[in-house]
Amino acid sequence: MNLENSRKLFQEAQRYLPGGVDSPVRAFKAVGGTPLFITRGEGSRIFDVDGNEFIDYVCSWGPLILGHSHPQVVEALKHAVEQGTTFGAPTELELTLARMVSAAMPSLEMLRFVNSGTEATMSALRLARAFTGRDKVVKFAGGYHGHADGLLVKAGSGLATLSLPDSLGVPASYARNTLVAPYNNSEAVAQLFQRYPSEIAAVIVEPVAANMGVVPPQPGFLDDLRRLTSDYGALLIFDEVITGFRAAYGGAQGVFGITPDLTCLGKIIGGGLPVGAYGGKREIMEMIAPTGPVYQAGTLSGNPLAMTAGIETLKALNQPEVYPRLEKAAVQLEKGIVETASSLNLKINVSRFASLLTIFFTATPPVDYESAFGADTALFSKFFHGLLAEGIYWPPSQFEAAFISLAHTDEDIRYTIEAIGRVLKGLQN
Ligand SMILES: *Cc1c(COP(=O)(O)O)cnc(C)c1O
Repeated sequence: MNLENSRKLFQEAQRYLPGGVDSPVRAFKAVGGTPLFITRGEGSRIFDVDGNEFIDYVCSWGPLILGHSHPQVVEALKHAVEQGTTFGAPTELELTLARMVSAAMPSLEMLRFVNSGTEATMSALRLARAFTGRDKVVKFAGGYHGHADGLLVKAGSGLATLSLPDSLGVPASYARNTLVAPYNNSEAVAQLFQRYPSEIAAVIVEPVAANMGVVPPQPGFLDDLRRLTSDYGALLIFDEVITGFRAAYGGAQGVFGITPDLTCLGKIIGGGLPVGAYGGKREIMEMIAPTGPVYQAGTLSGNPLAMTAGIETLKALNQPEVYPRLEKAAVQLEKGIVETASSLNLKINVSRFASLLTIFFTATPPVDYESAFGADTALFSKFFHGLLAEGIYWPPSQFEAAFISLAHTDEDIRYTIEAIGRVLKGLQN
């Protein structure tokens, strides 16, 4: 495969942009090689600066559930851009999208739009702390909630020890207020509540973990979190930045029938433009300025272009045939991979939830960070590059989800299964 132009651009980009990118995973560090510079996307396909074409399973890491350049979104954006790109004043578009989100997820009685998932989680935590008058929060190892200081925290060795910053530049004093438990382990969360019964403001969780690869919640885990947070007067925050409008139209909370106190959204609700949102119970949300004393603002928040892309995306998703179609494509892919792997006697685990899928190079299906990180990442890198040569753009890290969109056709899925078969076969030798 010719990557000459990408190589040149990557060289030059590294002079001006740290690592040549604006978000680390794009640099292919986990798998090695040259990241592709993309010029165009259409449906399930992306095209790079060397004229290569790929079936895309990154889909911008989740927002593009309709695929690239969806005609309905593009048309609406063309119209919107002619009306002006930003006003710093209210528009009806914000109300429209807020109504749609609230109708899909009734736990969001009110919401506030921001510009990214990071902003949403950061603001939701501030609000939770204000509402409860408490400082500590619980997160799960391997859970990703954006890059706010207090969330870039990892577990110390053993629950009894203090949490540690997971990045330079995060003050240890911030990290101390973040407690880390293993995913799918509500007993560990119960112990944290016993230890700090009146200090924990909130538990923040990806209801389906998708940032250590896809790791679904085990039966009862989310119910336990709901019960524990209620018992101890803490808030339950669902980070549905990925799962919102992905697990189902009503998010993971709809699938599992759990009502969180606050929900964070992003990705799909922006339809490919920068949007985040956080929302929940009215009495909590009314603590935000200007109705309440919790400050949070944004020059471009509720941006008319971003709202437009979000509205059109949700409109397209709110059709009865949509989620069954996504599920069918994802199941087809999962089955195909599982069958291929077992015919080759290869130990891999396909972890899938709705249209999110990870192929783990592990002996057993991961249930938490520790078991996920036992994966054979060297083998994954070979797998990734093998797929790239087959014209498939798979997420360039073992610990990310592949995203299936409505634009992926039966033929795309069939081709992908065959290509995966060829690549896995090559790995055996
Ligand atoms: C992507 C992601 C975020 C951060 O969103 P950004 O828009 O990248 O800031 C937060 N939480 C989860 C679960 C995510 O997947």
